[in-house]
Amino acid sequence: MAKIYPGFAEEIKKYGAKDFSACYNCGNCTAVCGLTDKNANFPRMLIRYGMLGQQEEILKSKELWLCYACGECSLNCPRQAAPGDYMSALRRYAIAGYEPTGLTKLIFKSNPFSIFITVILAVVLSFFLLTIKPDAEVSRWIFNIFPYNVIHTMGLVIFSLTGLSMVIGVFNLVRKFTKDKVKADKKKVSVWSSIKNLMNELATMKRYKTCDSEEESHWKTKSEIVKPWFVHWMIMWGFIGLLVATTLDFILKDPATSIWLPSRIIGTLAGLMMMYGSSFAIYYRIIKVTRSYKTTNLADWMLLIFLWIAGLTGFWLEVSVGFASDNFFNQIVFMLHILVSMEMVLLFAFSKFAHAFYRPLALYFYFNSAEVGKK
Ligand code: SF4
Ligand code: SF4
Repeated sequence: MAKIYPGFAEEIKKYGAKDFSACYNCGNCTAVCGLTDKNANFPRMLIRYGMLGQQEEILKSKELWLCYACGECSLNCPRQAAPGDYMSALRRYAIAGYEPTGLTKLIFKSNPFSIFITVILAVVLSFFLLTIKPDAEVSRWIFNIFPYNVIHTMGLVIFSLTGLSMVIGVFNLVRKFTKDKVKADKKKVSVWSSIKNLMNELATMKRYKTCDSEEESHWKTKSEIVKPWFVHWMIMWGFIGLLVATTLDFILKDPATSIWLPSRIIGTLAGLMMMYGSSFAIYYRIIKVTRSYKTTNLADWMLLIFLWIAGLTGFWLEVSVGFASDNFFNQIVFMLHILVSMEMVLLFAFSKFAHAFYRPLALYFYFNSAEVGKK
């Protein structure tokens, strides 16, 4: 029997949901959502789960990852129950629910704690970075107080624990998605075909384009390259490109002396894409361009600002390498770039960053479902 959590309605508000209990189950939200079909009934179904306190059903739901937060449902809700915001809050709740340490819950529920942990991590990482340059004067001074080995080992342990948390989070999500695999699935969908559909979606963002229909009146006269789906596409592929470039750098141990090394070319292009996407996303949120950009919480800001700083500093460094410029300012930029990048890695499992793993996985399970089809 499904476990009931009576305090769910109050709890989910701490993750950014409005008062969804105003919902009277009319179904408008599901009817207007361009992304629902007979296999993915949301957001109404998830609101029902929330009202009944069925948190386990929510954590098992891949549907909450199919929503791209366009806000169409909230615009059409006659009760102002803000189902779009509710879906976003559910994703934060799910990220916190899959992650095993409980840290994500604290980060999402408390802005002061979120800022506190970000600052503390920055300080710890700064010390850790000194272990890269142990002969610098400031390093020698710090190592007199905190021994080199302690700082270095502490850094490695923190990185390992973060990686482990992410692996457990992914494992928990997959376990929940596959727990009650629908026995009624008659027609099997092959793994290959599901992967193909997933790749197609990641490459084209076809579903997100459908989602953009919400603000039809605003976006329909605009060029594709400024629409939300494209902004998201640029951020996602910029992020993937930077991961590839960093991995190549690590494997090939490229010295940072030429901009024509493959990892540098990929890194520069990816950095530009990241800058483009995150700049538009930040700008849209500042001017609240449409309803879907009106509600931005700290987790959204942090994700975008971190990406933006990582992109800007990375791009600056590429230009410095191109001009063979190695002055004090560039060294500061380099440290800032490493600091922000490492902080993103450390916060990956405990923040909105985790959706970069969870959403594609949910999409895979969705495409793998035998009943995918029209409403
Ligand atoms: S449109 Fe509003 S009232 Fe109707 S089911 Fe959706 S959330 Fe509930
Ligand atoms: S925010 Fe958009 S994609 Fe998400 S449930 Fe509402 S209408 Fe659907």
